Amino acid sequence: MAEQVLAGSTDPTDEDDETLNPDTLPSSYDPSGQCPRCERVSNFGVMATDDIEWRTDFGRKQAVQQCVRLRCHGCGNETVVIEQYRSGDGWSPLLWFPKPGHLSDTTDVPDAIAGAFDEGARCISVEASNAAVAMFRNALAQIVQDKGSEDAKKAKTLNDAVKQMVVDRTLHDGFKKFADHVRTVGNAGAHQETWAEVPIEQAQELREFVKHLIDTLYVQPGRLDRAIPPKKRSTQPAPSSP
Ligand SMILES: [Zn+2]
Repeated sequence: MAEQVLAGSTDPTDEDDETLNPDTLPSSYDPSGQCPRCERVSNFGVMATDDIEWRTDFGRKQAVQQCVRLRCHGCGNETVVIEQYRSGDGWSPLLWFPKPGHLSDTTDVPDAIAGAFDEGARCISVEASNAAVAMFRNALAQIVQDKGSEDAKKAKTLNDAVKQMVVDRTLHDGFKKFADHVRTVGNAGAHQETWAEVPIEQAQELREFVKHLIDTLYVQPGRLDRAIPPKKRSTQPAPSSP
């Protein structure tokens, strides 16, 4: 199928086109936003749309779920979106593959941390933002269990554990600010009886903070350990004089 040309401008920052919102993930209705593959804000071409579920109303068969292939104009890779038809609203996205913000390199990340982060990222891909931030807070709690001193691990609350890690100087100086933000937003997601609903943009922002934390603490140090060391030139024997 030929790539559909986007209606209107192809600039994702164009404010005149109200259907384009670069802050949301791409869909067939709004083929712009952050690419789950290259993570840049981009425009997408709709490569194919296939109906995958139907409903019969008064003898008429109508598609209620579709699978859409979107190609990123930036990296050229494709994302698959499952969309649901809702009367009145038309097609709206349900889930994306690959899931946005996934950890591409988990070689050096402990399973419990990668698992909690991954679950949070999956929650975002189905727009469950309260559950997502609660899982990112859980990823932070797992980092405390992995990196913290015995005193930090024994702390009654995550707040106390983070304070102990600051006293112990376990991690870099900026850690407390990061940790406090993840902890408080995560609490808001988990305690909806007290806190306002967490918008999806806030959950996406938190995902980036926690991803950065995991990257700094595990991914980059692991890569550094395996980095190729410099090699000395082999010394050439001096030519022997005749
Ligand atoms: Zn891309």
